[in-house]
Amino acid sequence: MTSKNVVIVGGNAGGGLMAARLKKLLPPDTSIIVLDKAGKVEFQPSYTYVALGSRTEQQVSKDFGNISGDNVKAVKTEVTKVDAANRTVHTDTGEYKYDTLVLSPGARIIQNGFKGAEATYHFWDLQNALKTKDAIGKFRKGKIVISVSNPVYRCPPVPWEMSMMLHEYFTNKGLRDGIEITVAHPVEKPFEMFGPSISGPLTQWLEEMKIKGAFKFMTGMVDPVKKEVVSTNNESLKYDLAIVSPIHEPPDFVKNNDDLKSKMGWGDSNVRNFRNNKYDDIYAIGDLVAPSLGLGMAGVFAHFQADTAATFIADDLTGSYLTIPYNSVAACAMEGGSYGWFAYCDFARKLKDPKIPFPDCTVTGRGRIYKLMHAIYEKYYYASIFGGRN
Ligand SMILES: Cc1cc2nc3c(=O)[nH]c(=O)nc-3n(C[C@H](O)[C@H](O)[C@H](O)COP(=O)(O)OP(=O)(O)OC[C@H]3O[C@@H](n4cnc5c(N)ncnc54)[C@H](O)[C@@H]3O)c2cc1C
Repeated sequence: MTSKNVVIVGGNAGGGLMAARLKKLLPPDTSIIVLDKAGKVEFQPSYTYVALGSRTEQQVSKDFGNISGDNVKAVKTEVTKVDAANRTVHTDTGEYKYDTLVLSPGARIIQNGFKGAEATYHFWDLQNALKTKDAIGKFRKGKIVISVSNPVYRCPPVPWEMSMMLHEYFTNKGLRDGIEITVAHPVEKPFEMFGPSISGPLTQWLEEMKIKGAFKFMTGMVDPVKKEVVSTNNESLKYDLAIVSPIHEPPDFVKNNDDLKSKMGWGDSNVRNFRNNKYDDIYAIGDLVAPSLGLGMAGVFAHFQADTAATFIADDLTGSYLTIPYNSVAACAMEGGSYGWFAYCDFARKLKDPKIPFPDCTVTGRGRIYKLMHAIYEKYYYASIFGGRN
C-alpha cells in the first residue's frame, strides 16, 4: 500500500483531537498535516474565566507546534480555497494535496457585525475576553446587559452561565447590590432549548440570584449615545456595560464553495460519519457543521465527532473495521455562581426527528465539585490533543 496524505484544516478542539486520534489509528507512514491560521490551541470554555480575571492568556492558549511529532506536522497558514475535484487545499503559503481532508475550522467571528457593536464587549474570542476583563474590572455600579446578535453562536448556554459568574464576581467584591444583571435572549425562558428539566431549575437559580431576563430579544443594534441595546423588534434596554455576542459565520473558504457547504450555508456533512455528502474523501466536524446538523456549537460535539470520523477515515485508508457510532451527547460542567452544576443531554432522538423540540436532558443539583470538573476537563483537553506534550 502506498503511504497516504491526510490534511486537517483547524488545529483546535475538533482538528487537534482528530490529529491525535488519527496518529494512533493510521500506519506510521501516513502523513498527517494540520493547517491552522492562528497556530494556537485554545480552550474556549475558559474565555469566561479570562473575562473575569481568573485565567491568563497563557493558561487558555498553548503553542500549536506541540501537535507536531512523528508523522504529524502542524503548519501555521490560512486556508483560502479547497479544490475538491483535484484534492488540493490552497493556503496563503502554498498548496497541499490530500487523500483525505478533514475540515474543523470552526466559526468565523465578525467583529463590528451590527450597528454599535464597537461600543459593546464580548468574550467569544480571546482578545475580546481580555478587553472585557478590563471593562468588568472597572465596573462598580449600574446595568449590565448580556445579549446575543444572532441565534447561532458558540456555546448556547454561555450568556446565562456568564450572568451567574458575574453575580458571584460582584457579590464577592461587595458590589452586587448596586448592579443589575439582565440576560436578553431570543428564547422565551432561560435555557428553553434544553427543555424543562434544565430550564426549570435554572430559572429558579437565576431568580434566586436576582438575575433578570428579557425574552424574545435579539440584539439588532446598540445606541452608545442613549446607552441602549435595541432588539430586532425595536425594544430597548438601558445599559452601562453591554456584553453582546458577535455575528458568527462560516469561514470564507467554505462560504464561497458550493462543494463544502449545506443548503444552510454552513459546512456540509452527514451525522452518521461526518463525510461530505458529495465527496467521500472530505469530512467536516465541529462548529462548522453544527448549524447544518441541527446542533449547537459545542466542543463536546466536536470531540465525539472527531472520535467517530477518525474511525471511518481509518477504515477508508486501511481497510479496517473500527467504526465507532456517533455519541451525540453533550455532557458539560457549568458555572452557576458560587456553585457549579452538571448537564447531560442526549441529542440522538432530536437528530433523528428535528421536530422534537429539545434533547433528552438531565441536570445535577448544584455543588462546588462541578466547578472542579471544569478545571479537570481543561487539563484533559490539552492532554488529549498534545498527548501529554505541553
Ligand atoms: C466562551 C465560550 C465558552 C464555551 N463553553 C463551552 C463548554 O462549556 N462546553 C463545550 O462543549 N463547548 C464550549 N464552547 C464551544 C467550543 O469551544 C467550540 O464549540 C469548539 O472549540 C469548536 O471546535 P472546532 O474545532 O469546531 O472549532 P475551533 O475550536 O474554533 O477551532 C477552529 C480552528 O480553525 C482555525 N481556522 C479557522 N479558519 C481557518 C482557515 N481558513 N485556515 C486555517 N485555519 C483556520 C482557527 O484558527 C481555529 O484554531 C465555548 C465557546 C466559547 C467561546
